[in-house]
Amino acid sequence: MTTIAPHGLHHVTAIAGDPQRNVDFYTRVLGLRLVKKTVNFDAPDTYHLYYGDTAGNPSTLLTFFPWEDVPAGRQGAGLTTATAFSVPGESLGWWQRRLAELGVDAAAPASRDGEEVLTLRDPDGLVIDLVAAPGDARSGWDGAAAVPAEHAVRGLHAVTLSEAALEPTQRMLADLLGMKLAAEEGDRTRFTMGAGDGTAVDVLADVRRHGLQAGGTVHHIAFRVPDRATQAAWRQQLLELGVPVTDIRDRQYFTSIYFREPGGVLFEIATDEPGFTVDEPLLELGRALKLPPWLEPSREQIEAALPALEVAQ
Ligand code: ZN
Repeated sequence: MTTIAPHGLHHVTAIAGDPQRNVDFYTRVLGLRLVKKTVNFDAPDTYHLYYGDTAGNPSTLLTFFPWEDVPAGRQGAGLTTATAFSVPGESLGWWQRRLAELGVDAAAPASRDGEEVLTLRDPDGLVIDLVAAPGDARSGWDGAAAVPAEHAVRGLHAVTLSEAALEPTQRMLADLLGMKLAAEEGDRTRFTMGAGDGTAVDVLADVRRHGLQAGGTVHHIAFRVPDRATQAAWRQQLLELGVPVTDIRDRQYFTSIYFREPGGVLFEIATDEPGFTVDEPLLELGRALKLPPWLEPSREQIEAALPALEVAQ
């Protein structure tokens, strides 16, 4: 390998139903910041909502395509079946009480491979793990009304891929993307990349039932590279290794390439640059509907087709 490996998770993108219910859950219940309200660039009659820390830094981002009336998906092989966020080491008890008070579908914290994990489901059934991570250096979003800064969600911690077989996916993660095999416990194998926070990919192997991608499931996961030059080098390398990969797409806040791992999960490599303050100031992130320049001429029709959305932050 000559190209530097991706250095962490950039974002996770999932499919939701009602956009208002989605905003209410992630901003009011989990206390993330809505850092961008835009549309799906490939289907501009639907929202694309980005949640993250104060500035929407890579490694803190969970994004949604909310399609009203989307049928429920089914977790299973070929999908990312859990998205883990880190919270401060002593905060899981606080989160457990909060989620119970709010009637959120959540299990009691449990120990898993040396980590304390609280698993919950969002209103669409998406599986979110809160993991106690005492060493996490990120600060999260300290502006949430109902979540004190000391308990704030810090950012992505890990993703879990469910796979029929470990080996083909392992070859892509380790041999091709340069991740390290960090731990093996039962049917769960952890790979890590780079250094710092939000750098783990868990593979659950021997999952028999095939997943169905729809409401409440993850659409794709994205890994970080610093800039477009590194991304272009990655694209070239993937092509040379025979991996079908898309052209470079302009996502306004980063650029992206997409390819599939052998088990079927859609991977993206996204740049850290230019970030979410490229089209609105830090203090105003997420307030206005933002469109990329090529969709701006159609703003009137786009706004008319989108459901109203109330964001309290
Ligand atoms: Zn993406």
